[in-house]
Amino acid sequence: MKVIRAQSAGFCWGVERAINIAREFAGRGRSPVYTDGPLIHNSQMMERLQDEGIREVGDYHSQTQLDLEKDDNSVLVVRAHGISPERRKYLKSLGIDFKDATCPDVGIVAGKIRLHAKKGYTTVIFGDAKHPEVIGLMGYTEGRGHPIRSREDIDQLPELGDKVIMVSQTTMFTDDFHSLADYLKAKVPNLLVFDTICGATKDRQGDIAVLFEHGVQAFVVIGGHHSANTCKLALLARKTGLPTYHIETVNEIDEEAILQYQSVGVTAGASTPEFLIDAVCNRLAAL
Ligand code: SF4
Repeated sequence: MKVIRAQSAGFCWGVERAINIAREFAGRGRSPVYTDGPLIHNSQMMERLQDEGIREVGDYHSQTQLDLEKDDNSVLVVRAHGISPERRKYLKSLGIDFKDATCPDVGIVAGKIRLHAKKGYTTVIFGDAKHPEVIGLMGYTEGRGHPIRSREDIDQLPELGDKVIMVSQTTMFTDDFHSLADYLKAKVPNLLVFDTICGATKDRQGDIAVLFEHGVQAFVVIGGHHSANTCKLALLARKTGLPTYHIETVNEIDEEAILQYQSVGVTAGASTPEFLIDAVCNRLAAL
């Protein structure tokens, strides 16, 4: 079987950077290295990190109080998703060494929101209100933030005034963002629109089209079943009309189904480690 792997498959630079920061501390003997919520949404990788002394505390949303065994040797790392200013203040108050591994691309979005909020702007965020990145970004809106995902959500917004900006969670679909921005602009003519979908996400989305143009007959998308960006990639792959298999590990390959195709396009979410992608590609190529 011909296996074409997307160039962008696997860790994005922001996730890789956060993992490297945590690993660097662990490698220097800092123990435990705590992370405020799971460092990445991939259970196989989380198990490996745990073996290296990197321990997840708190919850996925980075909202619960942390009960840490304080030790001069331990350190607390903030994930690539980032956190709100209130959460940062709380984590710093815990009296434990603190390292911010927020992805710089998320930092840019936070900066735009903060700058405009200080000038009195209201912020509309295209994203999932329950995603930790959006929870963190909301903290910069000075209480004037509204997460939306659809036209219906926009229709239900309160009166926003004429000082409004619109940004996006970094991992959303580009086409949807621009379509919703146009819809909101019809209601708020002075709307300032900032396309803050990150380059890594755009590359992943673009590579689905590239694989499609290469004539693959099906897609295999690798990543955690709870990973939001992997689920979005699978959705985008399905939108091409080709059969799409979202799997977490090599063991989930449906060989009988896959054997129908002569060529398969493989991509993976931003939190999928290389070793899982290699295992899937090798197995598919051997079929
Ligand atoms: S998906 Fe984009 S914004 Fe999020 S961590 Fe990766 S590079 Fe950074």
